[in-house]
Amino acid sequence: MTSSILIIYTGGTIGMKEDPVEGTLKPFDFSQIMEEVPELGKFGVQIHAHTFDPLIDSSDVEPSLWISLAQLIRDRYEEFDGFVILHGTDTMAYSASALSFMLEGLTKPVIFTGSQLPIGVPRTDGKENLISAVEIAAAKDAEGHARVPEVCIFFDSRLLRGNRSTKFSAEAFNAFASPNCPPLAEAGIRIRYNTELIRKPVYWDAQLRVQSKLDTRVSILKVHPGMTAQVMRSVVSDPLTRACILETYGSGNALSKPWFLDILQEAEHEGKILLNVTQCPSGTVNMDLYATGATLKRAGVLSGADITTEAALGKLFSLMGRSDDNARVKTMLEKNLCGEITK
Ligand code: ASP
Repeated sequence: MTSSILIIYTGGTIGMKEDPVEGTLKPFDFSQIMEEVPELGKFGVQIHAHTFDPLIDSSDVEPSLWISLAQLIRDRYEEFDGFVILHGTDTMAYSASALSFMLEGLTKPVIFTGSQLPIGVPRTDGKENLISAVEIAAAKDAEGHARVPEVCIFFDSRLLRGNRSTKFSAEAFNAFASPNCPPLAEAGIRIRYNTELIRKPVYWDAQLRVQSKLDTRVSILKVHPGMTAQVMRSVVSDPLTRACILETYGSGNALSKPWFLDILQEAEHEGKILLNVTQCPSGTVNMDLYATGATLKRAGVLSGADITTEAALGKLFSLMGRSDDNARVKTMLEKNLCGEITK
């Protein structure tokens, strides 16, 4: 049976063109994207589109967009075999990460893609990205199940798990990396799926549940030489910080100065959630390796293992939205919920 795919267009470079007056890139409508990619009509896949209004540069993405996306997927879930989300690259890894936690019991592909050059430009990467994303979203195995029932990013020939991805180049076509998890598929002459890495649902007939309550009281503190107690306090101790992601050095190390540990301990005593995520793009937090990491552990900081900051943010928003109990959130935080950490 012919697969049917919903393309959801949120904005981003893929659908932008130059404003002749200002010389900056602005979004244009979806029918123009389809005109630029007539190949989509030759696929034997039924394509429908949903365009967000307003179309945005993804630097303007808010969690409310993730809620709208998740609800749209839920509302149209039975009609389609897969979903392709056209999204700006700047925050694509944040959106894909958040959606992976918000869509529980997913049995169909949700593939984010976009481009570095607008689709109307002769050397665009948008066409290839869009065509392959649609092919992957429509792909079924011998039993008729989706080949990739996960939230992913397809970019420059590689399919990456959404909550493992990060934007790592502002210019190269190869804009995304997933340093702690190999690609789930690679597109060459054929699309080669790394089947053993792709997560499968426990039940193929599971109902999709959308976690649409997010608690966004999360702050991110990147430790750096010269950081002051005042700046740290204003981030960690702010009453609106329920959880803080500490971006630390190497395998999860940070300064051992008494003021630094005092601020963390005060926050921990107030019941705040403190999560250690490494600034290194690749590798994992291990707070048992160095004394500077061990002190963080003693101060009550939890290990984010090899999670990306983007995934840590989405995971916290979603877990905190589900529960007011910080002890419960902490327990769930260290679990591998949808492939976001290596366990
Ligand atoms: N600023 C754009 C966006 O994220 C960049 C892109 O799409 O590549 O929407």
